[in-house]
Amino acid sequence: NNYTKEDIIRLVEEEDVEFIRLQFTDLFGNLKNIAVTASQLDRVLSNKCMFDGSAIDGFARIEESDMYLYPDLSTLEIFPWRPQQGKVARMICDVYRPNGQPFEGDPRYVLKRAVQQAEDMGYTFEVGPECEFFLFNTDENTMPTTNTHEQAGYFDIGPLDFGENARRDIVMNLEDMGFVIEASHHEMAPAQHEIDFKYDEALHTADNIMTFKMAVRTIARRHGLHATFMPKPKFGVNGSGMHINMSLQKDGKNIFQDASDPNGLSKEAYYFIGGIMKHIKGMAAITNPLVNSYKRLVPGFEAPVYIAWSTTNRSPLIRIPATADGEGTRIELRSPDSAANPYLTLAVCLSAGLQGIREKILPPESINANIFALTAKERKELNIDQLPGTLLEAVEELEKDTFIQDVLGEHIAGKYIDAKRKEWHEYRSQVSEWEIQEYLYKY
Ligand code: GLN
Ligand code: MG
Ligand code: MG
Ligand code: MG
Repeated sequence: NNYTKEDIIRLVEEEDVEFIRLQFTDLFGNLKNIAVTASQLDRVLSNKCMFDGSAIDGFARIEESDMYLYPDLSTLEIFPWRPQQGKVARMICDVYRPNGQPFEGDPRYVLKRAVQQAEDMGYTFEVGPECEFFLFNTDENTMPTTNTHEQAGYFDIGPLDFGENARRDIVMNLEDMGFVIEASHHEMAPAQHEIDFKYDEALHTADNIMTFKMAVRTIARRHGLHATFMPKPKFGVNGSGMHINMSLQKDGKNIFQDASDPNGLSKEAYYFIGGIMKHIKGMAAITNPLVNSYKRLVPGFEAPVYIAWSTTNRSPLIRIPATADGEGTRIELRSPDSAANPYLTLAVCLSAGLQGIREKILPPESINANIFALTAKERKELNIDQLPGTLLEAVEELEKDTFIQDVLGEHIAGKYIDAKRKEWHEYRSQVSEWEIQEYLYKY
């Protein structure tokens, strides 16, 4: 929506909006907000709302802590799940320094910078995500558990699917907020779900992912369920991915398509794949940001482990989905999970792909066999490398990849690497239930 300031003032008045939430996202993909009453609208619209940046993880140092929120007027949305009198609305904001410069620690700014580079090359980056999540029971104190009474599996329907009502309610609320929901279904594991909304230009999609997660959590709670986007909440069943479907448009046309190619792909599409494959290890700390992310990336659970692409098979990192017509041609990257910061994730995907186009990086041959069925020797002969196996490896790969660090910018790259190293070291000194089971008796 192309709202002007006058539109916003009129809407807030007409719709009886009482509270306005000014939202932004921290480095680690957490949604933050400051709530003001409608009486503050003037201040909000003249970019005068301030907050203490040093209070936000990884944001800023004490001595540079005053930050301003500049609302993106096009993102005004009224929460359909709040009361219809004294409504609550939100706007997504960009973070600025007191001197009027964009704050380099704002993930939305990182994506805007990447999108600008695409625009300079004449491209619009279109992205459609597939968000998976679990709906678990809460206990008597309304605390989340990993329990479910559900036995449903892929594409099952009620009454097996206890989450169905919650999912339906989620979809209806999202539609009220202007989302176009293309599909929603039960996923493979008990209590696991997927809702796919329509692709859009990258910045909108990243905003939408943040809004989506907030809505899913909120509505699930109304149904007494806890929604989690944790990548691998349960041993032995599938984890939750956030596959990313990407295409580039130029002059209103999808430039990834080429009917004369056996795979229907253009040179640009191949180069884009090549760029992503080249940088995927360095990107992993962004696309798979948690210690837990790497427990999803293991064989046997429909998640990628090996760095390969395919036009037919679902096991690899990158897949080319079949499309009814060329305009739908896209590249599906299957490694990201929904714990990832969507702004940073789309920024690194786009930048790596564009780098592929600029440097004409051809990807290796596609692998149309099931890679998981190959032996280590066969993989070696085919030159198939692996994704990082732990958060530590991923951080080390990011430290080696100066291109990806540049995409993030010095401020974010530094803060991010420090924080993730700390997270790893905290984790590695833990003693897990598995170790107790395996070692306590035997040794
Ligand atoms: N849950 C799987 C993953 O971790 C994907 C399953 C699917 O969508 N086919 O990526
Ligand atoms: Mg899907
Ligand atoms: Mg899925
Ligand atoms: Mg998919």
